[in-house]
Amino acid sequence: MIKILIFSLLTMGVTTAISAVSDDSVTVYSSRKEHLIKPLFDAFTKDTNIKVEYLTGKGGALIERLKLEGADTQADMFMTVDAGNLWYAGSQGLFQKVKTATLENNLPIYLRDPNGLWAGLSVRARTIVYNTERVNISDLSTYEDLASPKWEGRLCLRTSKKIYTKSLVASLIYHHGKDKTGDIISGWVNNLAATPNAKDSHVMNAILSGQCDVGLVNTYYYGRLIEKKPNAPLKLFWANQATTGVHVNVSGAGITKYAKNPKGAIQLLEWLSSAKAQLIYGALNKEYPANQNVAADRAVSAWGAFKQDKMNLSQVGILQAKAVKLMQKKGYR
Ligand code: FE
Repeated sequence: MIKILIFSLLTMGVTTAISAVSDDSVTVYSSRKEHLIKPLFDAFTKDTNIKVEYLTGKGGALIERLKLEGADTQADMFMTVDAGNLWYAGSQGLFQKVKTATLENNLPIYLRDPNGLWAGLSVRARTIVYNTERVNISDLSTYEDLASPKWEGRLCLRTSKKIYTKSLVASLIYHHGKDKTGDIISGWVNNLAATPNAKDSHVMNAILSGQCDVGLVNTYYYGRLIEKKPNAPLKLFWANQATTGVHVNVSGAGITKYAKNPKGAIQLLEWLSSAKAQLIYGALNKEYPANQNVAADRAVSAWGAFKQDKMNLSQVGILQAKAVKLMQKKGYR
């Protein structure tokens, strides 16, 4: 049994070991990479004198690890990306309910789990990206419109296996129901210029190479590309501004069910939602603040203001299985 456990931990892509843990420190398992979280934890320690130990790895692997460790886990907090993943961790009983006035004041309700199992700490927007030399901006409008025949052979999408795609489709099911969403997916599949891409960056490269004209990406990937290629004929378009708003998602965190230091972990969660932390968070990955009283980073603000979809993000978890089934049925690979 021990052998099996060690073997599975090794194969799950868990990369960083935890050093000795003192009683008042907080331990975080994070699928966010070290360079995105360490500056935050350092600033928290400076403010509070509470040390943060952390271990980074793939989200799915860390969830499995938390399940295996059960009550013996050292983790007080689990951080990951996408509300679909946060919801899944909650559905597996890995989080405890946390409701505090600070979290409720700092974070809007649609970015938090209604039962207090997890909270969104940064917002990522998934919207339309297009080739400015090949697309007339007046032709762009909504996610739904990308299913119309005018985009035949001109659309690139990321694979349906990625959680970002599942969450977006779950939001369409939430707004339109299964039948209409099924029609939208069929339209997308009809319009694809190529088999779905593995990464958002591949979608943008395909648009730049002329393989397709339009696609969907998380804006921070656009930010990274445009930083390297400022003259690329590529722009973001804010989808669904006259209707449901841009599909947003979060990176976020919850306090683990078996946290040894829940008090310290809640303090960290609250601190991460504070204006000070939100500014650091936004600048590190070109994401949007979850705290609505904080302005976005300057590079990010330059892409313009937009209306967000305010659907409660627990819905992307609740509707995830339906989204997966529907995409399979409609041949979205
Ligand atoms: Fe990402």
